[in-house]
Amino acid sequence: MPIGEDFARRLLPVLPAVVEHFGTPFHLYDEQGIQETCAAFDAAFGHLPFTEYFAVKALPNPTVLRLLADHGYGFDCSSLPELALALRAGARGDRICFTSNNTSRAELDAALAAGALLNLDDEAVLDKLADRPDRPGTLAFRVNPGARGRRSGSADAFLGNPEGAKFGVPADRLTAVVAEAVRLGTTRFGLHMMLASNSLTAAPVLHTLDLLLEHAVELHRDLGVTVSFVNLGGGLGIPYRPGEQPLDLPALGRALGERLDAWEREHGLPRPALAFESGRLITGPHGVLATRVVNRMSKWREYAGVDAGMSALMRPALYPTAYHHITAPFTDAPAEPVDVVGSLCENNDRFAADRELPALTEGDLLLVHDTGAHGHSMGFTYNGRLRPQELLLRRDGAVELIRRAEEERDHFATLDFTPDRLAARAGGRPSPEPQLAGLPG
Ligand SMILES: *Cc1c(COP(=O)(O)O)cnc(C)c1O
Repeated sequence: MPIGEDFARRLLPVLPAVVEHFGTPFHLYDEQGIQETCAAFDAAFGHLPFTEYFAVKALPNPTVLRLLADHGYGFDCSSLPELALALRAGARGDRICFTSNNTSRAELDAALAAGALLNLDDEAVLDKLADRPDRPGTLAFRVNPGARGRRSGSADAFLGNPEGAKFGVPADRLTAVVAEAVRLGTTRFGLHMMLASNSLTAAPVLHTLDLLLEHAVELHRDLGVTVSFVNLGGGLGIPYRPGEQPLDLPALGRALGERLDAWEREHGLPRPALAFESGRLITGPHGVLATRVVNRMSKWREYAGVDAGMSALMRPALYPTAYHHITAPFTDAPAEPVDVVGSLCENNDRFAADRELPALTEGDLLLVHDTGAHGHSMGFTYNGRLRPQELLLRRDGAVELIRRAEEERDHFATLDFTPDRLAARAGGRPSPEPQLAGLPG
């Protein structure tokens, strides 16, 4: 969707100077917008009550994470670097949920050392805890509901078919796995499930809660275990296309509360606290990718080649249905259909196909909208295309560089170019000629 009017009003007056000073391309995030969305999230769910563990993978920049930590949010991490980022952003361990998948011993060590909540994805990981004296008293389990995780015929945005997916403890194993955790001394339990994916309707989220509450009843009946919290994961959606209606957060908050009330009345059990791991909804609409046209080309159709590509924003190439709105804020030429493409040797390195935009010329600035989540973070360096810088528009109008652009030295940081090293192999002799004299050292 076009960025919000308030974001545009804050951004457009400073944009020419920002482009001039920092150069393109860059992702820029809007502090005020992020904080306003946090406030709206709190207003919608505060009565439940709830904990938000922001999904670090959506926007793993420590300056932005610090904003969210200052707001009181925790973090959902699934790797060692994500855990390190959350800690550096100032999160205490008890505000971190470690939802890894195929977790290694090293990851368990680090998550335990940090005091993070472990959200276990498989009984194999529980086995790894069995002989550890630092086993925590609280554990959460990610549940895979199998065929029941997808409502047949539903048009709502469910996250693929859980049956056959690698995530989570299969629902029919949960009681046995929790029984084993009880045997190991676990005293406080949480359940986690994620079924929604960029959902603009409440249905997948409510279905997730229903399934988790059914498990809570079964665990109480079969094992006498009380489920203290349920984590509904991420997947709350944002409108990427003009005209799409945003998810109605207050209505979702009311519906979740009503279901919990009814469940409490029916079963006489203490109601679990709620948790979310929203990423996209919190930061997605509050980022833009600014990029400049470097080539105008006419072949088959019209092309605008820009100075960013799928290495800076992979979603359009990765998901055939993904849409990112694009505007040319400083051009008012008559519109014409154009493909906006990057420089990778990949034909799907294309931000938009056949998109109506003002007729573009070399040097024109484009804004790709809604890049505040799963944008820079999904970047990669295939083809030697390096990831761009990240900027933060502060509430006072100042713009801060919060990550510099990658340079060749970053790309080569894991290589050793010394000539002896390159020639060293069994039986090989150092080459008398420095072979890489022309390459940067
Ligand atoms: C990706 C992910 C999230 C965040 O998803 P959003 O769509 O950004 O809200 C949350 N939890 C888990 C386990 C994830 O894998």
